[in-house]
Amino acid sequence: MSYSAGTVAGVHLRYSFRVYPTRPQRQSLARTFGCVRTVYNDAVAARKAAHETGAKYPSAVALAKSLITDAKRTPGRAWLGEVSVVPLQQALRHCDRAYRNFFDSLKGKRTGPRIGPPRFKRRSGTQTAEYTRRGFRLKEDGRLYVAKVGDLKVTWSRELPAEPSSVTVVKTVTGKYYASFVIAVEDDADLLEPLDDPDAETGIDLGLKSFAVLRGGKVIESPKFFRQMERKLKKAQRALSRKRKGSNNRAKARIRVGKIHEKIKHTRSDWVNQQVAMIVAENQGIYVEDLNVRGLSRGRAAKSVQDAAFGIFLSRLESKAARAGRTFVRVDRYFPSTRLCSACGALTGPKGLDGLSIRQWVCGCGTRHDRDANAEINIRREGKRLVAAGHADT
Ligand SMILES: [Zn+2]
Repeated sequence: MSYSAGTVAGVHLRYSFRVYPTRPQRQSLARTFGCVRTVYNDAVAARKAAHETGAKYPSAVALAKSLITDAKRTPGRAWLGEVSVVPLQQALRHCDRAYRNFFDSLKGKRTGPRIGPPRFKRRSGTQTAEYTRRGFRLKEDGRLYVAKVGDLKVTWSRELPAEPSSVTVVKTVTGKYYASFVIAVEDDADLLEPLDDPDAETGIDLGLKSFAVLRGGKVIESPKFFRQMERKLKKAQRALSRKRKGSNNRAKARIRVGKIHEKIKHTRSDWVNQQVAMIVAENQGIYVEDLNVRGLSRGRAAKSVQDAAFGIFLSRLESKAARAGRTFVRVDRYFPSTRLCSACGALTGPKGLDGLSIRQWVCGCGTRHDRDANAEINIRREGKRLVAAGHADT
């Protein structure tokens, strides 16, 4: 469970903009992406090898020496010297972080779904290269200078609120380029929004039928496009799987799948942002169930568009609540929010998979409940109890 209130230091915001590299810049970027992938994959391979032989994991410093500095002097990896060293060093950092997250997840130190060990990056996936301040500069004429690539043309759709600490140049599977800036916000009182009712609070019950239920039975419906897009995606994926490996048609089908993924991402992101903005604008206290997002999709091969939306929704809600100085509390996912009768406290509500279809029920105490509205009350109460008990970040 995590608890945050007031302003927090060190919130990181991400700002992405389309960039339009020239042909030579695209070639330099392709080379850079290739080198980043190679260094990352070499690092994964080195750690896999260490694991298999029972040797100690090589440190990040040791890997930087063997996989970048020394490797450049070998004929097989000399081309690493043709690109900026900054994104290569960042690739090692990313690999390191991926391993730490994996181990933390194994040890149960991470909330949320279990994550697997880092995997090899593929040429057909999204390509990225991250530059710290040493590797990029924002120029007066609005261009973005990237080391050993040149001045990139950027479409600035909004202003950066502060100096970025890093930029990641991204090439999507559909061939679009983006610059994604990270900005550390120290003090962002300007993000505070005044509340009509300074004591307004809500629990949030994330559901299967509707997306979420708020205080007073207010429902956020699941948008229709979740299902529509999912059907479209499945169809495109089936078409892709039928195409012969290495054929032109397969490449086209893969781009079609990538385009649908992109569309889903954007539409879902916009929709989630609207819901998050509404909740934060209206409430000082926000209490959510720390949902086992993976548990919801049990029995289905892939995470549905909606399941993925829950995770994005919770993390954005948490960060926006923190920036706006709201109280945000995650209630333990094992807290019986649905089973508990909010009137008498008895565990008389629907439970288990059989109980999933029960929308309304009557407790032995005589109270008639709407399943989700009852759960919202319980989550809100438990959240407030945690705050009162002084449970801080764990
Ligand atoms: Zn009761």
